[in-house]
Amino acid sequence: MIGDDVLFLTGTDEHGLKVQRAAEAHGVTPQEWADSTVVSYQDAWKLLEITNDDFIRTSEERHHSSVQRILQACYDNGDIELQTYEGLYCVSCEAYYTEDELDDGNCRDHGKPVEHVTEENYFFKLSRYEQPLLDWYEQHPDFVTPSTKRNEAVGFIKQGLRDFSISRTSISWGVPIPWDSAHVTYVWFDALTNYITAAGYGSDDEKFAKRWPGRHIVGKDILRFHCVYWPAMLMSAGLAPPENISVHGFLMVGGEKMSKTRLNQITPESLVADVGVDGFRYQFLRDQSFGPDGDFSHEGMLARYNADLANNLGNLLSRVATVVAKKCDGIGPAPRPDSPLAEVAARAVEDATEAWARTAPSEALEATWRIIRETNSLLENAEPWKMDPGPEVDGVLGDALEALRIVTILATPALPQSCPVIWERIGLEGAPDQQPWPSSVEWGGYPGGIPVVKGDPLFPRLKG
Ligand code: ZN
Repeated sequence: MIGDDVLFLTGTDEHGLKVQRAAEAHGVTPQEWADSTVVSYQDAWKLLEITNDDFIRTSEERHHSSVQRILQACYDNGDIELQTYEGLYCVSCEAYYTEDELDDGNCRDHGKPVEHVTEENYFFKLSRYEQPLLDWYEQHPDFVTPSTKRNEAVGFIKQGLRDFSISRTSISWGVPIPWDSAHVTYVWFDALTNYITAAGYGSDDEKFAKRWPGRHIVGKDILRFHCVYWPAMLMSAGLAPPENISVHGFLMVGGEKMSKTRLNQITPESLVADVGVDGFRYQFLRDQSFGPDGDFSHEGMLARYNADLANNLGNLLSRVATVVAKKCDGIGPAPRPDSPLAEVAARAVEDATEAWARTAPSEALEATWRIIRETNSLLENAEPWKMDPGPEVDGVLGDALEALRIVTILATPALPQSCPVIWERIGLEGAPDQQPWPSSVEWGGYPGGIPVVKGDPLFPRLKG
Protein backbone atom coordinates (compact mmCIF):
# COMPACT_ATOMS: atom_id res chain seq x y z
CA MET A 1 0.00 0.00 0.00
CA ILE A 2 2.87 2.40 0.65
CA GLY A 3 4.27 1.71 -2.80
CA ASP A 4 7.07 -0.73 -1.99
CA ASP A 5 7.49 -3.48 -4.57
CA VAL A 6 7.03 -6.62 -2.46
CA LEU A 7 6.94 -10.34 -3.19
CA PHE A 8 4.86 -11.98 -0.47
CA LEU A 9 5.86 -15.59 0.01
CA THR A 10 4.50 -18.40 2.11
CA GLY A 11 4.42 -22.15 1.68
CA THR A 12 4.92 -25.54 3.25
CA ASP A 13 7.99 -27.57 4.10
CA GLU A 14 7.19 -31.12 3.16
CA HIS A 15 10.27 -33.25 3.65
CA GLY A 16 11.69 -35.11 6.63
CA LEU A 17 11.13 -38.09 8.85
CA LYS A 18 7.91 -36.76 10.38
CA VAL A 19 6.20 -36.55 6.98
CA GLN A 20 7.63 -39.87 5.81
CA ARG A 21 6.27 -41.63 8.93
CA ALA A 22 2.86 -39.96 8.67
CA ALA A 23 2.63 -41.12 5.04
CA GLU A 24 3.60 -44.69 6.01
CA ALA A 25 1.01 -44.70 8.77
CA HIS A 26 -1.67 -43.72 6.23
CA GLY A 27 -0.48 -46.16 3.58
CA VAL A 28 0.37 -43.49 1.00
CA THR A 29 3.58 -42.11 -0.51
CA PRO A 30 5.13 -39.03 1.12
CA GLN A 31 4.29 -37.01 -2.00
CA GLU A 32 0.65 -38.10 -1.81
CA TRP A 33 0.57 -37.25 1.87
CA ALA A 34 2.07 -33.80 1.20
CA ASP A 35 -0.37 -33.22 -1.67
CA SER A 36 -3.31 -33.91 0.64
CA THR A 37 -2.13 -31.85 3.63
CA VAL A 38 -1.03 -28.75 1.71
CA VAL A 39 -4.64 -28.12 0.70
CA SER A 40 -5.72 -27.19 4.22
CA TYR A 41 -3.04 -24.46 4.38
CA GLN A 42 -3.83 -23.12 0.93
CA ASP A 43 -7.57 -23.11 1.71
CA ALA A 44 -7.05 -21.35 5.06
CA TRP A 45 -5.00 -18.53 3.52
CA LYS A 46 -7.57 -18.11 0.76
CA LEU A 47 -10.41 -18.05 3.29
CA LEU A 48 -8.61 -15.39 5.35
CA GLU A 49 -7.80 -13.28 2.26
CA ILE A 50 -4.09 -13.65 2.79
CA THR A 51 -2.82 -12.49 -0.59
CA ASN A 52 0.59 -14.07 -1.00
CA ASP A 53 2.23 -13.71 -4.44
CA ASP A 54 3.89 -17.12 -4.30
CA PHE A 55 3.31 -20.35 -2.42
CA ILE A 56 6.33 -22.60 -2.33
CA ARG A 57 6.22 -26.32 -1.58
CA THR A 58 9.63 -27.73 -0.75
CA SER A 59 8.85 -30.90 -2.72
CA GLU A 60 8.82 -28.83 -5.93
CA GLU A 61 11.55 -29.30 -8.50
CA ARG A 62 12.50 -25.60 -8.47
CA HIS A 63 13.35 -26.00 -4.80
CA HIS A 64 15.43 -29.16 -5.19
CA SER A 65 17.86 -27.49 -7.56
CA SER A 66 18.20 -24.49 -5.25
CA VAL A 67 18.94 -26.69 -2.20
CA GLN A 68 21.58 -28.60 -4.12
CA ARG A 69 23.14 -25.35 -5.24
CA ILE A 70 23.49 -23.88 -1.75
CA LEU A 71 24.76 -27.23 -0.40
CA GLN A 72 27.42 -27.32 -3.09
CA ALA A 73 28.43 -23.71 -2.31
CA CYS A 74 28.84 -24.51 1.41
CA TYR A 75 30.70 -27.75 0.58
CA ASP A 76 33.05 -25.96 -1.82
CA ASN A 77 33.72 -23.44 0.94
CA GLY A 78 34.91 -26.29 3.19
CA ASP A 79 32.02 -25.98 5.63
CA ILE A 80 30.53 -29.47 5.18
CA GLU A 81 32.24 -32.64 6.46
CA LEU A 82 31.33 -36.29 7.07
CA GLN A 83 31.15 -37.21 10.80
CA THR A 84 29.59 -39.85 13.02
CA TYR A 85 26.94 -38.55 15.31
CA GLU A 86 25.10 -39.95 18.27
CA GLY A 87 22.34 -37.98 19.91
CA LEU A 88 18.80 -37.51 21.15
CA TYR A 89 16.40 -36.64 18.38
CA CYS A 90 12.85 -35.23 18.49
CA VAL A 91 11.16 -36.34 15.29
CA SER A 92 8.41 -33.73 15.63
CA CYS A 93 10.98 -30.90 15.86
CA GLU A 94 13.36 -32.68 13.47
CA ALA A 95 16.14 -31.57 15.82
CA TYR A 96 18.79 -33.01 18.12
CA TYR A 97 18.79 -32.02 21.79
CA THR A 98 21.14 -32.44 24.71
CA GLU A 99 19.96 -34.08 27.94
CA ASP A 100 19.65 -30.72 29.74
CA GLU A 101 17.42 -29.29 27.00
CA LEU A 102 14.77 -31.93 27.77
CA ASP A 103 12.24 -32.50 30.52
CA ASP A 104 12.73 -36.08 31.80
CA GLY A 105 13.76 -37.23 28.33
CA ASN A 106 10.80 -35.47 26.69
CA CYS A 107 10.91 -32.66 24.11
CA ARG A 108 9.79 -29.41 25.76
CA ASP A 109 7.68 -28.33 22.78
CA HIS A 110 6.10 -31.70 22.09
CA GLY A 111 6.02 -33.39 25.49
CA LYS A 112 7.06 -36.62 23.80
CA PRO A 113 10.14 -38.83 24.35
CA VAL A 114 13.10 -38.19 22.05
CA GLU A 115 14.82 -41.04 20.18
CA HIS A 116 18.41 -42.18 20.55
CA VAL A 117 19.98 -41.98 17.09
CA THR A 118 23.43 -42.85 15.74
CA GLU A 119 24.21 -41.76 12.20
CA GLU A 120 27.08 -41.06 9.86
CA ASN A 121 26.10 -37.70 8.54
CA TYR A 122 27.41 -34.70 6.76
CA PHE A 123 27.87 -31.86 9.20
CA PHE A 124 27.72 -28.13 8.64
CA LYS A 125 30.59 -26.38 10.46
CA LEU A 126 28.37 -24.00 12.40
CA SER A 127 31.09 -23.56 15.05
CA ARG A 128 33.09 -21.54 12.53
CA TYR A 129 30.32 -18.95 12.39
CA GLU A 130 30.10 -18.14 16.09
CA GLN A 131 32.12 -14.93 15.80
CA PRO A 132 30.84 -13.88 12.36
CA LEU A 133 27.27 -14.23 13.68
CA LEU A 134 28.00 -12.23 16.84
CA ASP A 135 29.63 -9.53 14.68
CA TRP A 136 26.60 -9.49 12.39
CA TYR A 137 24.22 -9.05 15.34
CA GLU A 138 26.45 -6.29 16.69
CA GLN A 139 26.46 -4.43 13.38
CA HIS A 140 22.73 -4.96 12.69
CA PRO A 141 20.82 -4.12 15.88
CA ASP A 142 17.43 -4.72 14.17
CA PHE A 143 18.41 -8.02 12.60
CA VAL A 144 16.02 -9.90 14.90
CA THR A 145 12.97 -8.18 16.42
CA PRO A 146 11.53 -7.73 18.99
CA SER A 147 14.66 -7.25 21.12
CA THR A 148 13.68 -10.01 23.59
CA LYS A 149 13.98 -12.50 20.72
CA ARG A 150 17.22 -10.93 19.55
CA ASN A 151 18.67 -11.39 23.03
CA GLU A 152 17.56 -15.02 23.03
CA ALA A 153 19.36 -15.67 19.74
CA VAL A 154 22.54 -13.87 20.84
CA GLY A 155 22.45 -15.77 24.16
CA PHE A 156 22.27 -19.08 22.30
CA ILE A 157 25.23 -18.16 20.08
CA LYS A 158 27.30 -17.05 23.09
CA GLN A 159 26.85 -20.45 24.74
CA GLY A 160 28.96 -21.82 21.90
CA LEU A 161 27.78 -23.31 18.63
CA ARG A 162 28.08 -26.98 17.75
CA ASP A 163 28.26 -28.23 14.18
CA PHE A 164 24.94 -29.68 13.07
CA SER A 165 24.19 -32.63 10.85
CA ILE A 166 22.68 -31.73 7.50
CA SER A 167 22.07 -35.16 5.98
CA ARG A 168 20.29 -38.40 6.77
CA THR A 169 20.76 -41.91 5.41
CA SER A 170 17.81 -43.34 7.34
CA ILE A 171 15.20 -41.73 5.13
CA SER A 172 14.62 -41.31 1.41
CA TRP A 173 12.06 -38.50 1.37
CA GLY A 174 14.05 -35.36 0.67
CA VAL A 175 16.63 -33.68 -1.53
CA PRO A 176 19.65 -35.91 -2.37
CA ILE A 177 23.08 -34.55 -1.36
CA PRO A 178 24.57 -33.60 -4.75
CA TRP A 179 27.96 -35.30 -4.25
CA ASP A 180 26.69 -38.37 -2.30
CA SER A 181 23.30 -39.73 -3.29
CA ALA A 182 23.18 -42.17 -0.34
CA HIS A 183 22.30 -39.13 1.80
CA VAL A 184 19.25 -36.88 1.71
CA THR A 185 19.37 -33.34 2.99
CA TYR A 186 18.29 -32.68 6.58
CA VAL A 187 14.81 -31.19 6.44
CA TRP A 188 15.73 -27.89 8.12
CA PHE A 189 18.65 -27.16 5.82
CA ASP A 190 16.26 -27.82 2.96
CA ALA A 191 13.28 -25.91 4.39
CA LEU A 192 15.20 -22.73 5.24
CA THR A 193 16.42 -22.54 1.66
CA ASN A 194 12.83 -22.06 0.40
CA TYR A 195 13.17 -18.30 0.85
CA ILE A 196 15.99 -17.94 -1.64
CA THR A 197 14.46 -20.49 -4.02
CA ALA A 198 11.39 -18.31 -4.38
CA ALA A 199 13.57 -15.21 -4.65
CA GLY A 200 15.20 -16.71 -7.74
CA TYR A 201 18.43 -18.21 -6.34
CA GLY A 202 20.11 -20.22 -9.07
CA SER A 203 17.26 -19.74 -11.51
CA ASP A 204 16.81 -16.01 -12.08
CA ASP A 205 19.77 -13.81 -11.16
CA GLU A 206 18.00 -10.54 -11.88
CA LYS A 207 15.06 -11.47 -9.66
CA PHE A 208 17.39 -12.68 -6.92
CA ALA A 209 19.37 -9.43 -6.94
CA LYS A 210 16.10 -7.52 -6.55
CA ARG A 211 14.41 -9.78 -3.94
CA TRP A 212 17.23 -10.84 -1.66
CA PRO A 213 17.87 -10.15 1.24
CA GLY A 214 14.27 -10.66 2.34
CA ARG A 215 12.40 -10.29 5.61
CA HIS A 216 10.98 -13.21 7.60
CA ILE A 217 8.07 -13.58 9.99
CA VAL A 218 8.48 -16.73 12.10
CA GLY A 219 7.26 -18.37 15.29
CA LYS A 220 9.45 -18.55 18.39
CA ASP A 221 9.81 -22.35 18.19
CA ILE A 222 11.89 -21.98 15.02
CA LEU A 223 13.96 -19.01 16.21
CA ARG A 224 17.18 -21.05 16.48
CA PHE A 225 16.92 -22.30 12.90
CA HIS A 226 16.14 -18.88 11.44
CA CYS A 227 18.28 -16.63 13.61
CA VAL A 228 21.39 -18.84 13.97
CA TYR A 229 21.60 -21.68 11.41
CA TRP A 230 20.15 -19.80 8.46
CA PRO A 231 22.37 -16.68 8.48
CA ALA A 232 25.41 -18.95 8.95
CA MET A 233 24.37 -21.10 5.97
CA LEU A 234 23.97 -17.97 3.86
CA MET A 235 27.34 -16.58 4.94
CA SER A 236 28.95 -19.89 4.06
CA ALA A 237 27.38 -19.82 0.59
CA GLY A 238 28.54 -16.23 0.07
CA LEU A 239 25.03 -14.81 0.34
CA ALA A 240 23.66 -12.00 2.51
CA PRO A 241 21.69 -12.84 5.68
CA PRO A 242 18.05 -11.69 5.76
CA GLU A 243 17.31 -8.03 6.33
CA ASN A 244 15.09 -8.73 9.34
CA ILE A 245 13.57 -11.66 11.20
CA SER A 246 10.41 -10.82 13.18
CA VAL A 247 9.68 -13.48 15.77
CA HIS A 248 6.21 -13.93 17.28
CA GLY A 249 5.06 -15.94 20.27
CA PHE A 250 2.59 -18.79 20.52
CA LEU A 251 -1.14 -18.38 20.55
CA MET A 252 -2.30 -19.94 23.79
CA VAL A 253 -5.79 -20.97 24.80
CA GLY A 254 -6.48 -20.72 28.51
CA GLY A 255 -2.72 -20.46 29.13
CA GLU A 256 -1.93 -23.66 27.20
CA LYS A 257 -0.52 -24.30 23.75
CA MET A 258 -3.13 -25.49 21.26
CA SER A 259 -2.84 -29.18 20.50
CA LYS A 260 -4.91 -32.04 19.19
CA THR A 261 -4.41 -34.06 22.33
CA ARG A 262 -5.58 -31.26 24.60
CA LEU A 263 -8.72 -30.85 22.49
CA ASN A 264 -8.52 -27.09 22.43
CA GLN A 265 -7.77 -26.67 18.74
CA ILE A 266 -9.74 -23.89 17.14
CA THR A 267 -10.07 -23.76 13.36
CA PRO A 268 -10.06 -20.57 11.27
CA GLU A 269 -13.34 -21.73 9.68
CA SER A 270 -15.19 -21.86 12.99
CA LEU A 271 -14.00 -18.38 14.02
CA VAL A 272 -14.79 -16.90 10.60
CA ALA A 273 -18.29 -18.33 10.93
CA ASP A 274 -18.64 -16.33 14.17
CA VAL A 275 -16.99 -12.97 13.42
CA GLY A 276 -16.29 -12.98 9.68
CA VAL A 277 -12.95 -12.72 7.90
CA ASP A 278 -12.40 -9.13 9.03
CA GLY A 279 -13.36 -9.91 12.61
CA PHE A 280 -10.88 -12.80 12.61
CA ARG A 281 -8.03 -10.73 11.15
CA TYR A 282 -8.75 -7.79 13.42
CA GLN A 283 -8.80 -10.00 16.51
CA PHE A 284 -5.38 -11.52 15.92
CA LEU A 285 -3.70 -8.37 14.63
CA ARG A 286 -5.12 -6.09 17.31
CA ASP A 287 -5.51 -8.20 20.45
CA GLN A 288 -2.24 -10.12 20.47
CA SER A 289 0.86 -8.00 20.58
CA PHE A 290 3.62 -9.27 18.32
CA GLY A 291 6.39 -11.03 20.25
CA PRO A 292 5.08 -12.42 23.54
CA ASP A 293 2.66 -15.35 23.72
CA GLY A 294 -0.95 -14.30 23.23
CA ASP A 295 -3.90 -15.79 25.03
CA PHE A 296 -7.02 -16.36 22.98
CA SER A 297 -10.52 -16.68 24.36
CA HIS A 298 -13.82 -16.71 22.57
CA GLU A 299 -15.25 -14.15 25.03
CA GLY A 300 -12.26 -11.88 24.44
CA MET A 301 -12.74 -12.11 20.68
CA LEU A 302 -16.43 -11.18 20.89
CA ALA A 303 -15.71 -8.34 23.31
CA ARG A 304 -13.07 -6.93 20.96
CA TYR A 305 -15.37 -7.28 17.94
CA ASN A 306 -18.26 -5.56 19.70
CA ALA A 307 -16.16 -2.75 21.16
CA ASP A 308 -13.95 -1.83 18.21
CA LEU A 309 -15.86 -2.95 15.13
CA ALA A 310 -19.56 -2.87 16.03
CA ASN A 311 -19.54 0.09 18.47
CA ASN A 312 -16.67 2.28 17.33
CA LEU A 313 -16.25 1.88 13.59
CA GLY A 314 -19.67 0.47 12.66
CA ASN A 315 -21.60 3.05 14.70
CA LEU A 316 -19.54 5.94 13.41
CA LEU A 317 -20.30 4.97 9.82
CA SER A 318 -24.02 4.46 10.33
CA ARG A 319 -24.41 7.56 12.48
CA VAL A 320 -22.66 9.80 9.93
CA ALA A 321 -24.65 8.33 7.05
CA THR A 322 -27.93 8.79 8.96
CA VAL A 323 -27.28 12.44 9.78
CA VAL A 324 -25.99 13.20 6.27
CA ALA A 325 -29.27 11.76 4.93
CA LYS A 326 -31.35 13.90 7.27
CA LYS A 327 -29.42 17.17 7.28
CA CYS A 328 -27.58 17.21 3.95
CA ASP A 329 -29.96 15.39 1.59
CA GLY A 330 -27.59 12.42 1.50
CA ILE A 331 -24.72 14.43 -0.01
CA GLY A 332 -21.50 14.29 2.03
CA PRO A 333 -20.02 17.75 2.75
CA ALA A 334 -16.31 18.63 2.53
CA PRO A 335 -14.15 18.66 5.71
CA ARG A 336 -12.87 21.83 7.38
CA PRO A 337 -9.18 22.54 6.74
CA ASP A 338 -8.79 23.69 10.37
CA SER A 339 -10.69 20.78 11.91
CA PRO A 340 -9.60 19.67 15.37
CA LEU A 341 -9.44 16.16 13.89
CA ALA A 342 -6.73 17.13 11.38
CA GLU A 343 -4.01 17.02 14.02
CA VAL A 344 -5.39 13.81 15.58
CA ALA A 345 -5.38 12.11 12.18
CA ALA A 346 -1.88 13.32 11.28
CA ARG A 347 -0.43 11.90 14.49
CA ALA A 348 -2.32 8.61 14.13
CA VAL A 349 -1.10 8.21 10.55
CA GLU A 350 2.46 8.75 11.69
CA ASP A 351 2.17 6.29 14.58
CA ALA A 352 0.35 3.64 12.56
CA THR A 353 2.83 3.82 9.70
CA GLU A 354 5.76 3.52 12.06
CA ALA A 355 4.15 0.58 13.89
CA TRP A 356 3.36 -1.39 10.71
CA ALA A 357 6.95 -0.86 9.58
CA ARG A 358 8.32 -2.54 12.70
CA THR A 359 5.79 -5.39 12.60
CA ALA A 360 3.69 -4.11 15.49
CA PRO A 361 0.16 -4.45 14.05
CA SER A 362 -1.62 -4.14 17.39
CA GLU A 363 -0.03 -0.71 17.93
CA ALA A 364 -0.80 0.34 14.34
CA LEU A 365 -4.48 -0.49 14.80
CA GLU A 366 -4.59 1.10 18.24
CA ALA A 367 -3.33 4.33 16.65
CA THR A 368 -5.90 4.05 13.84
CA TRP A 369 -8.77 3.58 16.30
CA ARG A 370 -7.77 6.81 18.08
CA ILE A 371 -9.12 8.67 15.04
CA ILE A 372 -12.43 6.81 15.35
CA ARG A 373 -12.77 7.55 19.07
CA GLU A 374 -11.94 11.23 18.60
CA THR A 375 -14.42 11.50 15.74
CA ASN A 376 -17.15 9.89 17.83
CA SER A 377 -16.43 12.41 20.63
CA LEU A 378 -16.52 15.31 18.19
CA LEU A 379 -19.98 14.17 17.05
CA GLU A 380 -21.21 13.63 20.61
CA ASN A 381 -20.06 17.10 21.64
CA ALA A 382 -21.37 18.91 18.57
CA GLU A 383 -24.61 16.89 18.26
CA PRO A 384 -25.18 17.76 14.58
CA TRP A 385 -28.43 15.72 14.63
CA LYS A 386 -29.92 18.44 16.86
CA MET A 387 -28.81 21.34 14.66
CA ASP A 388 -30.49 23.01 11.73
CA PRO A 389 -28.92 22.33 8.35
CA GLY A 390 -26.15 24.81 7.61
CA PRO A 391 -22.38 25.38 7.53
CA GLU A 392 -21.81 24.12 11.08
CA VAL A 393 -23.52 20.78 10.45
CA ASP A 394 -21.68 20.50 7.14
CA GLY A 395 -18.33 21.17 8.82
CA VAL A 396 -18.79 18.54 11.53
CA LEU A 397 -20.06 15.88 9.12
CA GLY A 398 -17.39 16.70 6.54
CA ASP A 399 -14.76 16.22 9.24
CA ALA A 400 -16.28 12.87 10.23
CA LEU A 401 -16.38 11.69 6.61
CA GLU A 402 -12.76 12.72 6.11
CA ALA A 403 -11.77 10.88 9.29
CA LEU A 404 -13.60 7.78 7.99
CA ARG A 405 -11.80 8.09 4.66
CA ILE A 406 -8.39 8.11 6.35
CA VAL A 407 -9.35 5.29 8.76
CA THR A 408 -10.54 3.20 5.83
CA ILE A 409 -7.12 3.45 4.18
CA LEU A 410 -5.22 2.74 7.40
CA ALA A 411 -7.43 -0.21 8.41
CA THR A 412 -7.42 -1.95 5.03
CA PRO A 413 -4.62 -4.41 5.91
CA ALA A 414 -6.76 -5.69 8.79
CA LEU A 415 -10.21 -5.33 7.24
CA PRO A 416 -9.90 -6.10 3.52
CA GLN A 417 -13.60 -6.91 3.11
CA SER A 418 -15.19 -4.01 5.01
CA CYS A 419 -12.92 -1.13 4.04
CA PRO A 420 -13.86 -1.13 0.33
CA VAL A 421 -17.54 -1.15 1.41
CA ILE A 422 -17.07 1.86 3.70
CA TRP A 423 -15.15 3.59 0.92
CA GLU A 424 -18.02 3.07 -1.49
CA ARG A 425 -20.72 4.05 1.01
CA ILE A 426 -19.10 7.42 1.67
CA GLY A 427 -19.16 8.04 -2.08
CA LEU A 428 -15.51 7.52 -3.02
CA GLU A 429 -14.26 5.89 -6.21
CA GLY A 430 -11.55 3.31 -6.64
CA ALA A 431 -10.34 1.23 -3.70
CA PRO A 432 -8.80 2.23 -0.36
CA ASP A 433 -5.70 0.07 -0.92
CA GLN A 434 -5.00 1.68 -4.30
CA GLN A 435 -4.48 5.26 -3.14
CA PRO A 436 -1.27 7.27 -3.58
CA TRP A 437 0.94 7.18 -0.50
CA PRO A 438 1.35 9.31 1.61
CA SER A 439 -0.74 12.09 0.00
CA SER A 440 -3.95 10.04 0.38
CA VAL A 441 -3.73 10.03 4.18
CA GLU A 442 -3.18 13.77 4.48
CA TRP A 443 -6.12 15.74 5.87
CA GLY A 444 -8.52 17.21 3.31
CA GLY A 445 -8.83 14.46 0.71
CA TYR A 446 -12.59 13.94 1.02
CA PRO A 447 -13.94 16.04 -1.84
CA GLY A 448 -17.49 16.65 -0.58
CA GLY A 449 -20.52 16.89 -2.82
CA ILE A 450 -20.75 13.12 -3.26
CA PRO A 451 -23.55 10.75 -2.20
CA VAL A 452 -23.34 8.93 1.13
CA VAL A 453 -25.29 5.67 1.53
CA LYS A 454 -26.34 4.16 4.86
CA GLY A 455 -26.62 0.44 4.07
CA ASP A 456 -26.96 -2.48 6.49
CA PRO A 457 -24.87 -2.58 9.65
CA LEU A 458 -21.34 -3.60 8.62
CA PHE A 459 -20.56 -5.21 11.96
CA PRO A 460 -23.77 -6.39 13.61
CA ARG A 461 -23.39 -6.70 17.41
CA LEU A 462 -22.76 -10.27 18.52
CA LYS A 463 -23.96 -12.03 21.64
CA GLY A 464 -21.69 -14.47 23.47
ZN1 ZN B 1 9.89 -31.59 19.68
